[in-house]
Amino acid sequence: MSDFHSISDDVQYVKGIGPNRAKLLKKLDIETVEDLIYFFPRDYQDLRKFSHDLTGMLDERISIKVEVLDQAVVSRPRRGLSIIKQRVILGDMILYLVWFNQDYLVGKYKPGERLNVSGKFKKIGRELQISSPIVEKEGATRTIGKISPIYRLTKGISNNVLTKLVKNALDRNLKDIDETIPSYLIEKYLLKSKKDAISALHHPKSNEDLEEAIYRFKFEELLVLQSALLVYKRANNEAIGTKINDDGRTGSLIEKLPFKLTGAQNKVIEEVFSDMESEKKMNRLVQGDVGSGKTIIAFISMIKASLAGFQSALIAPTGVLASQHFDSLNELLKLLKIDNEVKIALLTGAMKKSEKDILKDSLVSGEIDIVIGTHALIEEDVFFKSIALIVTDEQHRFGVSQRSKLEMKGMNPDVLVMSATPIPRTLALIIYGDLDISIIDELPPGRVPIKTFMINSTILERMYGFIRKNIDEGRQVYIVCPMIEENEDFKLRSAEAIYEELRADELKDYSLALLHGKMTALEKDEVLRDFYNGKIDVLVSTTVIEVGVNVPNANIMSIYDADRFGLSQLHQLRGRVGRGNYESFCILINDNRSEISYQRMKILESTNDGFKISEKDFELRGMGDVFGTRQHGIPDLRFVNLFEDMALVKEVEKICLEIFEEDPKLNLQENSRLKKEVRKFLKKLEKDNISFN
Ligand code: ADP
Ligand code: MG
Repeated sequence: MSDFHSISDDVQYVKGIGPNRAKLLKKLDIETVEDLIYFFPRDYQDLRKFSHDLTGMLDERISIKVEVLDQAVVSRPRRGLSIIKQRVILGDMILYLVWFNQDYLVGKYKPGERLNVSGKFKKIGRELQISSPIVEKEGATRTIGKISPIYRLTKGISNNVLTKLVKNALDRNLKDIDETIPSYLIEKYLLKSKKDAISALHHPKSNEDLEEAIYRFKFEELLVLQSALLVYKRANNEAIGTKINDDGRTGSLIEKLPFKLTGAQNKVIEEVFSDMESEKKMNRLVQGDVGSGKTIIAFISMIKASLAGFQSALIAPTGVLASQHFDSLNELLKLLKIDNEVKIALLTGAMKKSEKDILKDSLVSGEIDIVIGTHALIEEDVFFKSIALIVTDEQHRFGVSQRSKLEMKGMNPDVLVMSATPIPRTLALIIYGDLDISIIDELPPGRVPIKTFMINSTILERMYGFIRKNIDEGRQVYIVCPMIEENEDFKLRSAEAIYEELRADELKDYSLALLHGKMTALEKDEVLRDFYNGKIDVLVSTTVIEVGVNVPNANIMSIYDADRFGLSQLHQLRGRVGRGNYESFCILINDNRSEISYQRMKILESTNDGFKISEKDFELRGMGDVFGTRQHGIPDLRFVNLFEDMALVKEVEKICLEIFEEDPKLNLQENSRLKKEVRKFLKKLEKDNISFN
């Protein structure tokens, strides 16, 4: 029979829900019975403690057991208003329960009847009153005396109604909820069963009851997530790549670089080279704060591939960055005197179709060794003769599926991923579960830490004085604004308006340029090239310069309406300065006077440590926004906080390893439910092509 009562039924099958309520519930993303069952409270109200003595309880919310004294009376002080007063006895006191315009309550409670009452306790004149209380007859109590759920609501559905509907859904289908965690783990780690945990989340019997339920769900989330990543990682580890052997030629080129690599860079290059030379397919994440020197690692690796006779590709998140990389690689090849041997090309969406076609042909023929480009590289009709290495810059901008599309173009090419978003190692393992990780934890020498100040617009004149002084000394300046055009709704200053203003006034003696995302790629390139070559003193820009842009001579970045940006984003932005040997400044212009806004800016003032900043950002904005996990297809975790629950993350990781040691394909009966969940999860990650076998 239970087939006719499935949890995936439309929510209308739940008692008390008709078409109207179903519509309202849909606004809360509740469409099936299951959705309703998993619609957990956002908070709880604890009405367990009954008060017997009311001294000192004035204006507090109280729960009491009382006896009805007499019939309620109604008075009508003016039209449209009726006041219902019900006298009740608590010990030797008389209290008044008071309602407004609810005449039907007259006569509802009989003298002598015992009630549980909860509400705010007030003294009005001489009367001790509780107005609009929750009242439940003794023995028929739903909330009073309990911890009761508080749900997220939508107009038209009260918390009481939602509580009732959830209860009906639980009555109907809780029994059909399957256990996900293998029973041997439930026993070993004393976990609550799934049914009990769901029940407890809606109606906890105690705080411990609630904590145990939350713990169980955290455990489950991590078990499924980490198992899935293990499966994925294993599938990848088994993949055979290409041995990239250049007979040590690249190693000897490193001596000729314009600067001496840092210890951290050398270590990372060693790790990358050893991956490339082995038969195993490389999947490596290089993580290093802004300015730590990731680009040179990408370049050297691609040169190595090329000297070994293979093609490679570098994908950048913006055309601006791609063409900048293209220029720097060109320079580097000349400097190393291998520009005759290593042929490179740039492919962006801005190119003419005819140009692209020629380029694509030369990729297929193998004429081009290294191609640098944007997403255009992922387009279906780009093919290679022998691609052996793919580098993606600023990985947090790419989705997993995009990356794998590219991987399919070659025969398991090695993959190198660069990211500046600093995250804890364990967290990185979860987010980039399929990758090995190299960390650049050292900045090139001679860097003077960026000084960050928060100011408000009353002292802009002084700021521009400071800017002029620096330009006169030969430096260049970025001015960043959140928007392109003036927007009436928000009082945000647009890049265009500020550009015009400065050109006419504060900076009229200098050369200014405007850069924003709506310009064509060609226009953007030109502006950036001019800025790079020192033809432009001040670049007024939107956040298109956020990632990667490298102009070491620029030493000031002013950010208008800084409060509009995420902390990690601001950190990335200011990473555009402090790249040379000049003392550098980041000026955050913020007129928002709220405490939280002040605190946010203070964090940036007080530290240059991208790790600390990302942790704060995570607290304020959540995982999906900070780490781009949503782009990676990793669903937001509902229960686990990857910073706070680090200990559990590690514990469950160990458990997963044990499970897979014993049952690598999850074929044992006891692991079958887990297997199903892992499959579901892989599907969400768009990795459903991965099998257990
Ligand atoms: P990111 O890690 O943010 O991508 P880049 O690779 O753009 O950083 O490097 C930032 C700047 O530091 C560049 O101008 C680069 O040439 C320079 N650089 C990189 N490595 C070193 C080094 N070992 N010594 C000196 N300068 C370096
Ligand atoms: Mg970079």
